[in-house]
Amino acid sequence: MIVFKFGGASVKDAAGIRNVAEIVARYRATNPLLIVSASGKTTNSLEAVVNAHCLGQGDAWEALAAVKAHHENIVDDLFAAGHPVRADLHDSFVEIEWLLEETPGHDPYDYVYDQIVSVGEFLSSKILAAYLDAQGLSAQWLDVRDVLCTDATYREANVDWAETGKRIAAVVPAMRQKGLVVTQGFVGVTPENTTTTLGREGSDYTAAIFAHCLRAEGMTIWKDVPGVLTADPRLFPDAQKLDHLSYEEAIEMTYYGAQVIHPKTMRPLQVLGIPLFVKSFIDPDGPGTVVDDRLVEQPYPPVIVVKKQQALLEVSTVDFHFINEDKLHHLFGLFSKYRVKVNLLQNSSMKCLVCVDDQPKKREVLLQDLLEYYHVAVVDGLELITVRHYDASLLDHLKFGRKLFLEERTPQTAQLVVQA
Ligand code: ADP
Ligand code: ASP
Ligand code: MG
Repeated sequence: MIVFKFGGASVKDAAGIRNVAEIVARYRATNPLLIVSASGKTTNSLEAVVNAHCLGQGDAWEALAAVKAHHENIVDDLFAAGHPVRADLHDSFVEIEWLLEETPGHDPYDYVYDQIVSVGEFLSSKILAAYLDAQGLSAQWLDVRDVLCTDATYREANVDWAETGKRIAAVVPAMRQKGLVVTQGFVGVTPENTTTTLGREGSDYTAAIFAHCLRAEGMTIWKDVPGVLTADPRLFPDAQKLDHLSYEEAIEMTYYGAQVIHPKTMRPLQVLGIPLFVKSFIDPDGPGTVVDDRLVEQPYPPVIVVKKQQALLEVSTVDFHFINEDKLHHLFGLFSKYRVKVNLLQNSSMKCLVCVDDQPKKREVLLQDLLEYYHVAVVDGLELITVRHYDASLLDHLKFGRKLFLEERTPQTAQLVVQA
């Protein structure tokens, strides 16, 4: 069996859903398991609902109305009046409305976030399942919370592999006998039956979890690009497609921030040797990119990954002591405590330079704590550029005309922190 993951871009409107149905119809004989993300930018729109409700940033009901309108347009285009999918979507919206009736602050932010933001995947999967069914493809809608078990780390839940494996084996093969199974990416459930999410862009990871647990023959993620490219084509329009990547190379690229695949996707596939195909839903016959454990014969071309919204923290001791192992231990304890992601670090006798994702809310609380022990200077508005398989002229080109704050090189990888 194969697992297909359709990302947000593939189901962004009614035409997108029709196109997905055409792709699925071609593969109907292989009965793929379908994982779907929220439609288009719905996750961002639902984040706006959460921020309006919890942080007072705008009107939550207005923000929710925009999400409703987006989905109603799709449904009106795809289904005749009176189709039961409308009632199904209504049920999902009611769940959000109940939460908005609560006084802000009643529940922790991360918990509320997961309850509201996960709804995007419920909406898109209900629409897709209903549409496939209406096309005679007999689809079964699966609530992923019946099978994908996690801990209660809201917004970044950790998968309980043993329980998830058991439940998937108990539920999914039987459902597949009855038709195409359609379920949600990104979402999980705690032992207490509350909804969690796996982290932004986590639907690829969901697909890999199912592929692993079902020992799939392959997994395909359908994208708006021809495959994995040597750089983000929005930033580097002449980026080239990579035909074949090793799991390790794909892990490295995505670990450094290449948005095309979620970094946690590869490991569950790699341990069972399940190939990953990255293909275009615009050109489904195109060859795409294959990620597997076959020998990669050609040397890799340079691959560029840009992480935006970075800040550099320059940490030094107040007592003129060196930044030794104890200090580093303490420092990293604070980064971990506030879940601030460290992307690059350079340590010298008196100074530690740390490049982090710049999330103002997290930075504020981290700094409060750091400043009790250290001098800290912050530079924001930066980018972290990582180049795998670099050459000197490309690095010069990337640095040209930009202020360089930090540079690190290993034989395979160069990293530059530069002004955005
Ligand atoms: P999905 O619809 O599956 O969620 P995303 O929008 O998350 O898709 O990811 C696809 C986008 O990733 C592409 O449109 C492209 O702009 C971007 N991207 C960034 N880096 C790369 C890369 N190295 N190769 C291909 N696409 C990339
Ligand atoms: N919808 C979620 C997001 O946009 C998960 C995903 O698309 O993979 O982050
Ligand atoms: Mg995505």
